[in-house]
Amino acid sequence: MRKKIVAGNWKMNKTLDEGLALASEVIAMVKAEVKNNAQAVLCTPFISLYSVGKLAEGSPVAVGAQNCYDKESGAYTGEISVSMLKSIGTKYVILGHSERREYFAETNALLAAKVTAVLKAGLTPIFCCGETLAQREKGIHIDFVNSQLTESLFLLSEEDFKKVVIAYEPIWAIGTGVTASKEQAQEMHEKIRTHLASKYGKAVAEETSILYGGSCKPDNAQELFACKDIDGGLIGGASLKARDFVDILKSF
Ligand code: PEP
Repeated sequence: MRKKIVAGNWKMNKTLDEGLALASEVIAMVKAEVKNNAQAVLCTPFISLYSVGKLAEGSPVAVGAQNCYDKESGAYTGEISVSMLKSIGTKYVILGHSERREYFAETNALLAAKVTAVLKAGLTPIFCCGETLAQREKGIHIDFVNSQLTESLFLLSEEDFKKVVIAYEPIWAIGTGVTASKEQAQEMHEKIRTHLASKYGKAVAEETSILYGGSCKPDNAQELFACKDIDGGLIGGASLKARDFVDILKSF
C-alpha cells in the first residue's frame, strides 16, 4: 500500500513564535480529528525545525526541511547539511521545489547530489518536479517532467529509489489559485508512474508515493486525492492555516 502524505511547505513564512503557534494548532487538530492513516509533515523554515520537532515528538506529525546542501560539512557559508537536519530529528526534506530551481538556479545534477545525500543519512526526500505553462502549451510537459526525474533520480539504486517521495507541482498552479484539474493531475501522475516503471519496474512504481502540489485547498483536495495515482499533497499557502491544512489531511 502506498503511503498517503500531506506535507505543508511553509516557505519563508512565520517567525519562531508564529511557527510554534501554528504547529501547536495543527498537532492538536491532527490528534483530535484525523482518523485516516495519512502522514502529516510540517516543512518549516530552518529556524523553527528544532522547536517544532520537539513539539511534534510523540505525535503523528513529522517535521521536514525545505532544502539542504549536498556536502557533509565544511566551508559552505550559510548552508545546512543533512546530518545537521538529522541531528534535530528532521525526517523529510523537500528538494527541487520550482522556487529553488528558479531563484537559486538549482539544476537536475545538483538535485541528484542532494537526493543522494538525504538518502544516505536515512531521511526521506520529497522530490519536486513540474512544468511551466509554456511547456504545457507546447505539449512538451510530459517529456520535461520525465527528464527531471531521469536526471535527478535514475542514478539511484532500486533500494534507494524506493525511499523517495515525488511531488508533481505544475509551476503554473503554484501560488496562483489555479489548480490543475483532476484530469490533468491524474494524467501526469500516471505518466510519472509509467516512467518510473520503465526504470525500476512496475512493482516499485506502484509503491512510490506521488503527491500533487499547486493551489491545493480544502475545497479541491478531495477530488484530487480520489484520483488513482495521487497519493496526497504538497501544500503551500493553505498550510499556513491550521484549519485548512488539517481539512486537506482529512480529504482522503
Ligand atoms: C508549493 O509551493 O509547494 C505549493 C504547492 O504552493 P501553493 O499550495 O500555495 O500553490
